[in-house]
Amino acid sequence: MDVIVAGDRAELAEARRALGIGGPASPGKAALALVPTMGALHEGHRSLMRLAGEHAEHVAVSIFVNPLQFGPGEDFSRYPRTFDDDLEVCAAEGVSMVFAPAAEDMYLPDRQVGVSAGKMGAVVEGAFRPGHLDGVLTVVLKLFNLVRPDVAVFGQKDAQQLAMIRRMVADLDLPISVVGAPTIREADGLALSSRNRYLSPQDRQAALALSRALFAGAGQRTPGEIRRVARAVLAEEPSVAVDYLVLVDPATFAEVGEGHTGEAILAVAARVGSTRLIDNVTIGL
Ligand code: AMP
Repeated sequence: MDVIVAGDRAELAEARRALGIGGPASPGKAALALVPTMGALHEGHRSLMRLAGEHAEHVAVSIFVNPLQFGPGEDFSRYPRTFDDDLEVCAAEGVSMVFAPAAEDMYLPDRQVGVSAGKMGAVVEGAFRPGHLDGVLTVVLKLFNLVRPDVAVFGQKDAQQLAMIRRMVADLDLPISVVGAPTIREADGLALSSRNRYLSPQDRQAALALSRALFAGAGQRTPGEIRRVARAVLAEEPSVAVDYLVLVDPATFAEVGEGHTGEAILAVAARVGSTRLIDNVTIGL
């Protein structure tokens, strides 16, 4: 009677260890950390690679402009693709592996099954980009299965995406630790984004209203004041077309009430010229 009976997930992990299956290569530090990206790499991506290197022996970066997460009329075809420069960035950051599949390699032509982001995928960003978060979770799950990292690093810049990936890992029992990384900004406050390169000098100036509004909101003390002050700053910039400005619970992305205590995320999405930008800050209440 040598059969191991595992009654819960801890015992299951223990049984796998006892049988010598999987597990971290060396105790203490994970073997592989993955940084999923869509390329057009900038200093924000670099910071994720460095953080990944603190968590694992090897860092893998995926570069894939995922058609599934773009809606009709969005910027999939004109999304910047700078593969040669991206490879140099990865090499300079000591990355061990770049995974850059073609769309035909990622998706079967008769693909049927995908991940549903559920109700949380239909609010805030999901309300303006239907299906976007389903597309993100589907590609991230596929990347996890293909690359098989122990750790995956995502930016707080895409706060709802990060929250949904944590939800997917918890809901689907994925054996991966998710690490969130702070947003890297230009000196004047603009959050780095691959889409910033679309901005004309005038657009770029107008785009500063997003971070200005978030920082002004973060200086207030109640949810009502935070929303009011941030909206007022955005309203001063007529060339910024706001999709949403919300103050939400970091885990659920539900709007927080006036009595909320703990952390909340003040998130904004707006169009400046033909470029859609998102940004957010975390506020302690
Ligand atoms: P993307 O290539 O835009 O899909 O982003 C790849 C990863 O980089 C995501 O986890 C983003 O949240 C993260 N990221 C994008 N911009 C920034 C930034 N300014 N600071 C930190 N992380 C970022």
